[in-house]
Amino acid sequence: MDQDDFYLRAKAWQAALTQSFGGGQVYYAAKSFVCVEIAKWLKELKIGLDVCTGGELAVALAANFPASEIEFHGNNKSEIEISAAIKAGVGTIVIDSFDELSRVAKIAKDMNKVQKVYLRLTPGVDAHTHEFISTAHEDVKFGFSIASGDALIAIDKCMSEDSINLAGIHCHIGSQIFEVEGFKVAAERLVGVLASFRDKYSTQLPELNIGGGYGIAYTQDESAIAPDTVIPAISEVIKSECKKLNLSVPKVSVEPGRAIVGPTTTTLYVVGTTKTVTLENGSKRRYVSVDGGMSENIRPALYGAKYSAYLANRTSTAKPITTRVVGKHCESGDVLIPNIDLPEDIKAGDLLAIPATGAYGRSMASNYNHIPRPSVISVVNGTAREILRRENESDLLNLDVVQAPRALS
Ligand SMILES: *Cc1c(COP(=O)(O)O)cnc(C)c1O
Repeated sequence: MDQDDFYLRAKAWQAALTQSFGGGQVYYAAKSFVCVEIAKWLKELKIGLDVCTGGELAVALAANFPASEIEFHGNNKSEIEISAAIKAGVGTIVIDSFDELSRVAKIAKDMNKVQKVYLRLTPGVDAHTHEFISTAHEDVKFGFSIASGDALIAIDKCMSEDSINLAGIHCHIGSQIFEVEGFKVAAERLVGVLASFRDKYSTQLPELNIGGGYGIAYTQDESAIAPDTVIPAISEVIKSECKKLNLSVPKVSVEPGRAIVGPTTTTLYVVGTTKTVTLENGSKRRYVSVDGGMSENIRPALYGAKYSAYLANRTSTAKPITTRVVGKHCESGDVLIPNIDLPEDIKAGDLLAIPATGAYGRSMASNYNHIPRPSVISVVNGTAREILRRENESDLLNLDVVQAPRALS
């Protein structure tokens, strides 16, 4: 993991917000990848942290990350998680449902606190990578629908609770999005809600969070959506809508995860078994097996995510041949790259590098087949340092609850 790259990308988002809005806040989406060291970097960068479980919150607190700069997300926060968040002094809880609204209000009240909250709204924008669909009704587990009227009902409910302080509204329209259109439509609809609020309560909600989902390049035919493209586009919509509706421009925040950490990291594999098969049409395909697979990168198997790969330990002038890069798990679907041209002379012991694995790689890793999860190594100024150590077999065995053997009769 390239630490400088992480810093540059985080700063670019903050700079784009400052440029467009004269301020605003970046919340890094911890679920894309977090460990104590990353939380320390973010603290140094003065970037906020978006967590969505008690576990992610625990990492932030272990890094002495300032609780006031934490946002707490999730569609099913437990009472224990809500209490822990309020007790820690988490800056904002993003309320996701009517059930949760009552839960947060009650827990805050019992603790004699007033908790700052946002409401997560679904603006009827369904963004998938290169396209977005604008819909009137939402069929998703997250948030309050604007179109159905639930958003305004939730606002009224918040305003009637003394133990919560509604400071703003939030949306997150999807992931790995390349077009600015979806963000613009979402921003416009959210500003519409700010206007409805002002009309009813004669005061303004001060904050607006437009979420994450900014796409990155995994292969050479993709290009990322840059912060200095998307933030000005969002800003233009927010400012013109606010002007039209006679609102002052709210404090705007965003929640990039993948766009900050994704490109910073390259996974290094050791090549093991290779084999060549003949396909039905007579052509050949070479399989290259690596010492990992769906346990440390589930994305290709889970949703067909695309990656590229490079021979990393030497240069080769051998002719490139059709190759499938596979893992070592007991599943035919354990494929990292279905089809890529790689040098014919790749053999056991070579290193294969897969770039752009920083987001949703290690963070989604499992111990399937009892494979210990890999270490994460950060590189800065020519020095390498482990920031998460490699798991070993005793880590795995530590969880086994072994009882004294029962005497057989
Ligand atoms: C996942 C998520 C993000 C980050 O998404 P990226 O695609 O990594 O930018 C931000 N906000 C919320 C609410 C999320 O669920």
